[in-house]
Amino acid sequence: MTKTLEKVHTSDQLPDSTTVVIIGGGIVGVTAALTLAERNIPVVLLEKGHVAGEQSSRNLGWIRKTSRHFEDVPLAVAADKLWAEMPARIGKEVGYKQAGIMFLAKTEEQVAAHESWLKSVESLSLDSRIMSSKEINDAVPGGKGDWAGGIYTPSDGRAEPAIAASAIAQAAINKGATIVQHCAVRSLSTIGGKISGVVTEKGEIRCEQVLLAGGAWSRRFLGNHGVALLTLPLVCSVMRTKPIDGPTDIAVGGPDFSFRKHQDGGFIITQRGALDAPLTLDHLLIGWRYLSQLRAQRSFLRPSLGMDFLKDLQLARRWKTHQISPFEKVRVNDPKPNPDLNQEAFTNLCNAWPVFNQAEIDEEWAGIIDVTPDSNPVIDRIEAIPGLTIATGFSGHGFGTGPAAGQLAADLVSNVEPLIDPSPYRFDRL
Ligand SMILES: Cc1cc2nc3c(=O)[nH]c(=O)nc-3n(C[C@H](O)[C@H](O)[C@H](O)COP(=O)(O)OP(=O)(O)OC[C@H]3O[C@@H](n4cnc5c(N)ncnc54)[C@H](O)[C@@H]3O)c2cc1C
Repeated sequence: MTKTLEKVHTSDQLPDSTTVVIIGGGIVGVTAALTLAERNIPVVLLEKGHVAGEQSSRNLGWIRKTSRHFEDVPLAVAADKLWAEMPARIGKEVGYKQAGIMFLAKTEEQVAAHESWLKSVESLSLDSRIMSSKEINDAVPGGKGDWAGGIYTPSDGRAEPAIAASAIAQAAINKGATIVQHCAVRSLSTIGGKISGVVTEKGEIRCEQVLLAGGAWSRRFLGNHGVALLTLPLVCSVMRTKPIDGPTDIAVGGPDFSFRKHQDGGFIITQRGALDAPLTLDHLLIGWRYLSQLRAQRSFLRPSLGMDFLKDLQLARRWKTHQISPFEKVRVNDPKPNPDLNQEAFTNLCNAWPVFNQAEIDEEWAGIIDVTPDSNPVIDRIEAIPGLTIATGFSGHGFGTGPAAGQLAADLVSNVEPLIDPSPYRFDRL
């Protein structure tokens, strides 16, 4: 986890009852808590580790519309507005800056893919545009890369994962939400099949509604209740440099590296062309549902079979409420960064923009991404368990849409007009 993460001070007291319990203190859970608290709906958020301990502090902080599926763009557009309004709403900075995002293409085929995406979202009037190699060199000076072209969206941006979810959580508390950290939810309680509460490691809370925003843990949590959610874990490694005089404020994604400026003047870098896939039982059980993704991105995944397989096998898939759950056994999932992938990213970046040769690496980390077969999240009520809503499976791009996803989930929970049409995120599509 990044050492720059701001921690939140929360209550140790578990109330007996509330209206809504939220499971998970990532960007989605905390935004839902903020929204519900602003609506004066009693809400308790429970986090097994600490707020933003997993994906929501480990990500790159990109907030993009570029390259999203057509049906996923309205959520990203809604999120842009919510990010821009966030400092005024919560009285704290979240590091949001609309500095633009640019993806580079090495081949004509990659340019054609960007053109085809641009055509697919033509009706949405985005400000994305195709860039020539000269325009790229003018916008990001000092480059040595030989680009066939690229795509640029000036209204895309970034926020700081190390502060955003924590600041939103603090604001939710200030507005009346209760947040309890180090408190895993073991299971749901039901009466006549309907939600009546949750059982936590610290006791039971009665409630009318539950929102599960458990990130990569949601599949295991739901599996214990006989609900099959399709997500698979992948690992993304990241590094951050000390402040340097970099080439641009724009976040730039090359085929095999990416960089974006951190608020302290350093840069956050990753190997954009590769993700680790340490195999688990789930990869064997449901991997076939991802075959079309795999065919399109075969060279992208680096599968491995090692200790992760055994560690995962040791975690229960079914447990009873009186038993210690997997969520207590892994308070904060902290995978080791892959030094080879980070080194590849750094070398490729230095070849493309030699100014980075002088950068000093300050820290490295990794995070688990929860990927669905179509790379879109699920934000929906679960009909099999009335009173249960889920917002999960953000497939590596849920920080940017997080504020809108959390609000949409809160809308579904509180039965108000949804922020956007939620139908692309239906559970039954998977
Ligand atoms: C390295 C990396 C880079 C990324 N880059 C980007 C990016 O640039 N832009 C972007 O938009 N997205 C990015 N993402 C994806 C983004 O971080 C996630 O989609 C987003 O943070 C998901 O938020 P979440 O709230 O759903 O999950 P999380 O942040 O994972 O939060 C879920 C929380 O639920 C808790 N929890 C789970 N089960 C229980 C339980 N039973 N009881 C109590 N607590 C529980 C967990 O401890 C966890 O804190 C990246 C992800 C990674 C790992």
